[in-house]
Amino acid sequence: MRQDQRIALRKRFAFRCGYCGVRERDVGAELTIDHFQPGSKGGAHESENWVYCCHACNEFKGDYWQPNSARRLLHPHVDNLASHVIEQNDGNLRALSESGQIYIDRLQLNRTPLIEHRYKRQLRDAAQVEERYLLEEASRLDKDIQSKKAKLDEMRGGEEHA
Ligand SMILES: [Zn+2]
Repeated sequence: MRQDQRIALRKRFAFRCGYCGVRERDVGAELTIDHFQPGSKGGAHESENWVYCCHACNEFKGDYWQPNSARRLLHPHVDNLASHVIEQNDGNLRALSESGQIYIDRLQLNRTPLIEHRYKRQLRDAAQVEERYLLEEASRLDKDIQSKKAKLDEMRGGEEHA
């Protein structure tokens, strides 16, 4: 694999694991290249067959390949994962279909560190929303104070001239 192909792949997957979503900066390293159709099952060493993924997901997926059965593995860019898997408020993933269940089970996407990782991300996202709201509220109150001060100054100015 050429360096430019590797960079293009990392970009295509937004520097995250295609399966579990952890980022390079979460693990402090570049991730691995999975052959979606394993080489041992006739998969080509070509970019269309590459999934950028973390070491753990790569290990768990292994040489799984059941393309023509109900137990086929979903592809993170080809299939619409949102219709098969949903993230719950506690960080657990829940399957919405049989394929979703196979996806979660095979890749062990409800492994404890991932559940914690997703849960913490949810808390962080919620905290950011709250922070934005509070900043807007503070800015609104600040403007309100400024306008009241201006009005007060106007009234005081009026008294002095009276
Ligand atoms: Zn992963």
